[in-house]
Amino acid sequence: MKNICGMPVRKLKEAILAREVSARETASCFLDRVEEKDSVIKAFLTLDRDLILKDADRIDLEIKAGKLTGKSSLPGIPVALKDNIITHGIRTTCGSKILENYVPPYDATVVTALKKEGALVFGKCNCDEFAMGSSTENSAFQQTRNPMDTERVPGGSSGGSAAAVAADFVPLSLGSDTGGSIRQPAAFCGVTGLKPTYGLVSRYGLIAFGSSLDQIGPFGRSAEDTAILLNAISGHDFRDSTSARRQDEDFTALLHQDIRGKKVGFCPDWFSSGLDPEISGSIKQALKKLEDLGCTIVEIQLPHSEYAIETYYIIAPAEASSNLARFDGVKYGFRSSDHTDLESMYRNTRTQGFGDEVKRRIMIGTYVLSSGYYDAYFLKAGKVRNLIKKDYLEAFDKVDFIAGPTTPTPPFKLGEKTTNPLEMYLSDIYTVGANLAGIPALSMPCGKTGSGLPIGIQFQGPHFSEAAMLSMASALETELNLE
Ligand code: GLN
Repeated sequence: MKNICGMPVRKLKEAILAREVSARETASCFLDRVEEKDSVIKAFLTLDRDLILKDADRIDLEIKAGKLTGKSSLPGIPVALKDNIITHGIRTTCGSKILENYVPPYDATVVTALKKEGALVFGKCNCDEFAMGSSTENSAFQQTRNPMDTERVPGGSSGGSAAAVAADFVPLSLGSDTGGSIRQPAAFCGVTGLKPTYGLVSRYGLIAFGSSLDQIGPFGRSAEDTAILLNAISGHDFRDSTSARRQDEDFTALLHQDIRGKKVGFCPDWFSSGLDPEISGSIKQALKKLEDLGCTIVEIQLPHSEYAIETYYIIAPAEASSNLARFDGVKYGFRSSDHTDLESMYRNTRTQGFGDEVKRRIMIGTYVLSSGYYDAYFLKAGKVRNLIKKDYLEAFDKVDFIAGPTTPTPPFKLGEKTTNPLEMYLSDIYTVGANLAGIPALSMPCGKTGSGLPIGIQFQGPHFSEAAMLSMASALETELNLE
C-alpha cells in the first residue's frame, strides 16, 4: 500500500478495516515521517514510539477479533493531541515548566472517546504555555516551525497540532480554541480547523484557561476528515456541567449536500485597512466561488465587533488568573526548591514556573477583577460581550453563515512579534468574536499569497450549525481544488 500518510481518513479507515494495511503499519509510516522531519518542525513534545506501536498491535488484534468494526469512527487512525489535553500515564505539560513532569492519573473525556472509537493516541503536541499566545513561541520547551515555511511560525496556541497535520505526521489532531487557537494555526499551516459551539465537546480534562470560552476541536486535511473527528469527540458529558444535552449528530451527514440557496454574510468592516491585501483578494475570490455554487452574498453589520479584542483580553485573563491559582507548588507540578516559608514557596514556584506571557495575563486578570476596577473592566466587558453576541444572533436572522478572513496577515516570521504583545494580540482580531458569542467557527485553506504562504477563510455560524458549516466548507474545497 502506497502513501498511507497522505490518505483521506475515510479511505485509510476502509483499508485498515479490510486489513489491507494494519494499524501497526499505519503507525510506523507516520512515526517514520516524524522521525525524519520533526527535528526541524518540532511539533511534538512527547512521543513514545514503543507505546504507540504497542497500542497499534492491540488495535490490530481487536480488528481481527471483530471488536472494532465499521461502527467505530477511527479504527487505527492516529490522532495527535495538544498538550493541554490530559492523558492518563502520558506526560501533559501544557507547554509550561510548572507542569514539566506532570503525568496525569486520568484521561480527558475526549481521550476516552477517541480510545472507544478505536483511535490511536499519537503523542502530545507543542503549544503556547497554558494556550496563551498566537505563535507557539510562548512554549517553555521549543519553538514549532511552520511546515509550509520553516522560517515562520505555525500560529498558536495549538501550533504543534496544526503543524503535525500540515506535515503529514498524523491525519488528525486535536487543539483547543479560547480566542482563535485552532483557527489561526489552521490558517497559517494550510489545514482545516474547527472551533465547535461552546458545550458541544466536553472540557473535562482540558487544562482550563478561560472556562467560558475554551473549546476542544479538530484539525484535519479536509472538511470530511475534520467532520469524522468531530463525530468521535462530541456529545454530552455529565462531568462537564457546561456540556450541552443534545441528540448525537453525524457531522458527515450533510457533507455532499447542495449548498445552493444558502445566504452567506459579508461584513465590509472586516475588509478595511488592517487586512493584508492578498488575504482580502483571496477571500473575495472564494466568495465569488460560493456565488458560482448558488449561494447569495449578503452584506451584514456586526457593529460591536470592533470591541471584541478589548473585551476578550479582559475576560480571558480574568478567568485565567482564577484558573491558574491552582498551580501553587502544593498540589502537583513543579515546586521551587528555593524557599524558607509557605509564602516564599508559593512566590518562587510561580515566579520560576510560569513564563512572561502567563504572568502578564495573571496580572491583567487580577487587576480587572480587583475591587475598584471590577465594575469598570470585568463587568463592562461582560456587557459588551452580550452586545457582540446579540449582533451575531441578529445577523443569523438574515444569513446562514458569515464568511471572512481568519487572520489579518499571512504567517509571520519567528521572533517578529515576541517583543510586542499588543501586536500579537491583534492576530486574534477576527477569531475572538466566535468565542465570546459561543458560536462555531471554522477555518479552511482558500489560497496562497504570491510567495506561497497559506491563506485561510473563516466561516462562523449559529449555535450548533457545524454539520451545515462543514458541508459549505466541503463544497468550497471541491470548487477551489487547491493542489
Ligand atoms: N491568541 C489568543 C490568546 O493568546 C487565543 C488563545 C487561544 O485560543 N487559546 O489568548
